[in-house]
Amino acid sequence: MDRYAVVGNPIAHSLSPRIHQVFAQQTAQALTYEAILVPVNSFTCAVDAFKAKGGKGLNITLPFKREAWELVVQRTPRAERARAVNTIVMHEDGRLTGDNTDGAGLLRDLTLNHSITIEGCDILMLGAGGAARGVLEPLLEAQPARFVIANRTGGRAQALAEEFADLGAVNSCGLDEFGAEQFDLIINATAASVGGEVPMISGNVLRPGGCCYDMFYSHRPTAFVRWGVERGAAKSLDGLGMLAEQAAESFALWRGVRPETTEIIGRLRNNNDGGRICSR
Ligand code: NAP
Repeated sequence: MDRYAVVGNPIAHSLSPRIHQVFAQQTAQALTYEAILVPVNSFTCAVDAFKAKGGKGLNITLPFKREAWELVVQRTPRAERARAVNTIVMHEDGRLTGDNTDGAGLLRDLTLNHSITIEGCDILMLGAGGAARGVLEPLLEAQPARFVIANRTGGRAQALAEEFADLGAVNSCGLDEFGAEQFDLIINATAASVGGEVPMISGNVLRPGGCCYDMFYSHRPTAFVRWGVERGAAKSLDGLGMLAEQAAESFALWRGVRPETTEIIGRLRNNNDGGRICSR
């Protein structure tokens, strides 16, 4: 059977093996998918070892996405732009192609699963780390009216905005620099929810009827999802759908068939899939 895996550190709570198992059953693909814990200084060795065992593809999660970007000989344009790789395709001749499916996953979850229109929308993205970088290109290509990146360390937001300025008007600021501005969609790409915190944003930034999206996900509403609900968001969502959609995008790259995500999202959400949801 063709072998696939996700590598990361930590990895024990990864939902990816369960997601890909459901995708394989659904699409009648014969494959195995495992989670591999890789010591922080052994990423390249782990990739080589998996390839030597006949591996066909890998998902990469924290903290190795940047290292994966550096390792692969070929990168898709979206991986090149993101400077991070979350999917590796292992070719028969030994070449590795790196892709980044996170941005496509977020966009599909927002637009297809939750019917949120990006075009013409005023978007505020909180955070300027790897996750923010990975989703900027597809979000800007969907032509929002306005896009602001706000980060605790304002200089990182400014650097990111300048790097992506060729794709549209992107502004940046610190978290405490908001006045009367309001946004239709606020995306939390910070790691604040991991510690149960909400980024300290000044002002009343959520426009009435607007939506909130936390890239983090959990078996109970995240701190940022609760923040959105408390401010009357029309939708306040977590990143479980993004996780499933980026996985489906990886699966399609490897197998040439796109799985359907409703079943696995429902199973994980209802916690009837043999484990608890926990952000990877
Ligand atoms: P990262 O590269 O370490 O970046 C962390 C970001 O969060 C930085 O902008 C940092 O600001 C900010 N931050 C951390 N703690 C904060 C706090 N208490 N208040 C305000 N800002 C804070 O991490 P990442 O890889 O971008 O991941 C970010 C989140 O996205 C994580 O929760 C991760 O689970 C999630 N994620 C989800 C998916 C999915 O499929 N659903 C995929 C990828 C990532 P400074 O620059 O000031 O330090």
